[in-house]
Amino acid sequence: MTIAAAIEGETIVTDALIIGAGPCGLFAVFELGLLDIKAHLVDILPKVGGQCAELYPEKPIYDIPGFPLVTGQGLVDNLMEQIKPFGATFHLNQMIEQIEVLGSAEAPRFRLRTDAGTVFETKTVLIAAGGGSFLPKKPPIPGIEAYEGRSDGGGVHYAVRKMETFRDREILIVGGGDSALDWTLNLQPIAKRVTLMHRRDDFRAAPHSVEQMRALVASGAMDLRLGQVMGLKGEGNELHGAICRDNAGTEFEIACGTMLPFFGLTMKLGPIADWGLNLHENLIPADTEKFETNVPGIFAIGDINTYPGKLKLILSGFHEAALAAQKVHRYVYPEKRLTFQYTTSSSALQKKLGVA
Ligand SMILES: Cc1cc2nc3c(=O)[nH]c(=O)nc-3n(C[C@H](O)[C@H](O)[C@H](O)COP(=O)(O)OP(=O)(O)OC[C@H]3O[C@@H](n4cnc5c(N)ncnc54)[C@H](O)[C@@H]3O)c2cc1C
Repeated sequence: MTIAAAIEGETIVTDALIIGAGPCGLFAVFELGLLDIKAHLVDILPKVGGQCAELYPEKPIYDIPGFPLVTGQGLVDNLMEQIKPFGATFHLNQMIEQIEVLGSAEAPRFRLRTDAGTVFETKTVLIAAGGGSFLPKKPPIPGIEAYEGRSDGGGVHYAVRKMETFRDREILIVGGGDSALDWTLNLQPIAKRVTLMHRRDDFRAAPHSVEQMRALVASGAMDLRLGQVMGLKGEGNELHGAICRDNAGTEFEIACGTMLPFFGLTMKLGPIADWGLNLHENLIPADTEKFETNVPGIFAIGDINTYPGKLKLILSGFHEAALAAQKVHRYVYPEKRLTFQYTTSSSALQKKLGVA
């Protein structure tokens, strides 16, 4: 998988830009690839797989055609294997914030910008953004916003975009799930000191992560405190410490320059709401012939779209990706006629798949 770093100011020119690397965005790479259309994908999450990878990686799915049982992560791994021949480039940890229409209805072109400053110019856009952006649930701590948004690793952060920014910092990690435990274990070796705080001595994270964390606590390499953060202390946006309360009601303070609360994710539509796509109840209306929106050249596939009879199933999104790709081809190669071919019998398709 090719993962591109965010490059401020440079424009990436492509035929198709896919917003969202969930199962439907990933399968779109396959359908576009069969038609010689190279794609870039952008996802706000640090990993591919959308809901399958983020919300239920270990749960079995029983209604993927041809797979009596596959886990959420298993499906994502298979999709990644299936799209390997097409060399898509992934831009993770970035959210598409803006779309600007540059071309005409017959020859569309778009400029898109991520919150990390990456700019794309593309002939077509496939929105496969599911329920929208996964946003962190924020703890109800008064004044917490004042400490958000620092780029040097100080203050409050809800995601770890780059571990290095947290080197040598005094970090308080709050939460008891996989994210809290994973980042505790990953940051502990490079931080000045890590303290993990959770409401109770019972963790929802993978047992082996909990064991590793307890071993670090036992060896004195980090601290574990039980309780809740009630307030923050600092100057301007510089965090100095957290005021906490244990379950018996006793207040205590933890010195820290960085706090990382991991309280789970919620899905919000985010910037898509402002892109002029005639939203209907937070979904993008699309036709059922090519899954194009009201803006020629912008397609909507998977959970984000709506049309009469829509079922929010992965298999529906796969079908939508296949039909959208046909119309994308007409925009990308207006002079070429598209002939229908099977992968089983077309040596041209098999060549593209690297099997002939
Ligand atoms: C617990 C659970 C169980 C399920 N079980 C089944 C099942 O058994 N069978 C089934 O068919 N379906 C099931 N589903 C539904 C299935 O997961 C969804 O239909 C599927 O994930 C939709 O895929 P998608 O690619 O459209 O969107 P998603 O999987 O939601 O992926 C969308 C991606 O877009 C990204 N994104 C959003 N906005 C932006 C932006 N502005 N910029 C960059 N990236 C953005 C998000 O970060 C996300 O990664 C289940 C869902 C849940 C929650």
